[in-house]
Amino acid sequence: FDERFASRTPRTRALFERAKKTIPGGAGSTARLPRNGWKPYPLFVAEGEGSRLRDVDGNEYIDYLLGLGPMILGHRNPVITRAVSDAVANLGTCFGLPYELEIEAAEKVVAAVPGIDQVRFTNSGSEAVGTAVRLARATTGRRLIVRFEGHYHGWQDTVYWSNHVDPALAGPIENPRPVAMGGGVPTELEDTLVVLNWNDPEALIALMESRGHEIAAVLTEPAVFNTGCILPEPGYLELLREQTTKYGAMLIFDEVITGFRFARGGAQEWFGITADLVTYAKGLGGGFPVAAVAGTREAMRLIADGTYSHSGTYNANVVQCAAVSATMDLLAEPGLYERQRALGDRLATGLETIARDRGVAAHVTGIGTVFQLWFADQKIRNWRDAAAYAREDVFTRWYEEMVLRGVLFHPLQFENLFISLVHTDADIDATLNAADDAMSVIARE
Ligand code: PMP
Repeated sequence: FDERFASRTPRTRALFERAKKTIPGGAGSTARLPRNGWKPYPLFVAEGEGSRLRDVDGNEYIDYLLGLGPMILGHRNPVITRAVSDAVANLGTCFGLPYELEIEAAEKVVAAVPGIDQVRFTNSGSEAVGTAVRLARATTGRRLIVRFEGHYHGWQDTVYWSNHVDPALAGPIENPRPVAMGGGVPTELEDTLVVLNWNDPEALIALMESRGHEIAAVLTEPAVFNTGCILPEPGYLELLREQTTKYGAMLIFDEVITGFRFARGGAQEWFGITADLVTYAKGLGGGFPVAAVAGTREAMRLIADGTYSHSGTYNANVVQCAAVSATMDLLAEPGLYERQRALGDRLATGLETIARDRGVAAHVTGIGTVFQLWFADQKIRNWRDAAAYAREDVFTRWYEEMVLRGVLFHPLQFENLFISLVHTDADIDATLNAADDAMSVIARE
């Protein structure tokens, strides 16, 4: 593969060598480095448009990476780009004071999503989650946060645990041990967390019975998109809601991926469960850097009265609020989500059928516009299953054969494929054609 890839990407390779001199590792996020799947080196992008990306060597890709999720309305969406550039030209960028467009953006988010009354904008998903977690502790006067193996909640110390770690370090599944995701995370924080197996009602009930009154919040991805795609089993989110209410703990939905993704109201709308606090990022601003912490009026009380300081120089800047406002308008188009979910389902089912017809053990999980093809012969219910059964080696070959055929998605099995609201039937047809070809190569190996 490396040679075939290199022969298509000489300029990319040269840029990577140049980048390494002034950018540690050669890219702006560790997730873009060769050790995280981008082998032998990451693509260097020349431009994106709609559902397509072009690299600096002139290769074109149908893009299912979508910037890791934010490009929900496609690259260079003309409406959002115009809204942002007009706002910057007419208003400015950053005032350190409130302004009217900020209210407009907040009103549109609150109107789009069930169960929330108020929203504060910030810069990244990590910031939004950090705020929600600390706010839950401040509000309840409790210390413990419950979180789940295989979920990712950003890079802050409080939550940088128990995803992409070695299962051998994680202890028994009935009583997992928190495992920091990297060096530099103070080990003392282990005492402030309880990590549980997800989709496991008994584990949650047992914990709540023994320590429920110590728990500030249960923090969860409402569907797990940081271990491929794993959906909640029937009744599980209802149980999280019921148990947190019973013990006076807050329920935090980390909707950084699910927000605005397969339904405008995100997982709260899709599953019909409302949380106390919700975090958003990817999708919220149509590709511009914005995130949010949102919640019920009661949950936002300490922010509202000023006793909890949620601060940030760039919070709710003009680029963010213009992007959010335009994105919310575009996402309100009637029938948009139904159409794109159907398109996503066609792709997902098509890939599963192609694998089956070629005799490759694989199945799809996900919801319409975000899914993953698992190379596994067992159903994946949680992170332990994924670690035990998912064939990362087969997935790597799948990625390689697809990228060489002009279809781009994340090279790791534990990530997922995103479909924007501007992908077309022609994109899906071309992808399925490439997939048929690629799968036949894999089946022969
Ligand atoms: N929460 C979830 C569920 C995420 O998927 C991510 C990013 N992948 C984050 C939080 C962190 O967001 P950001 O990268 O914007 O800091």
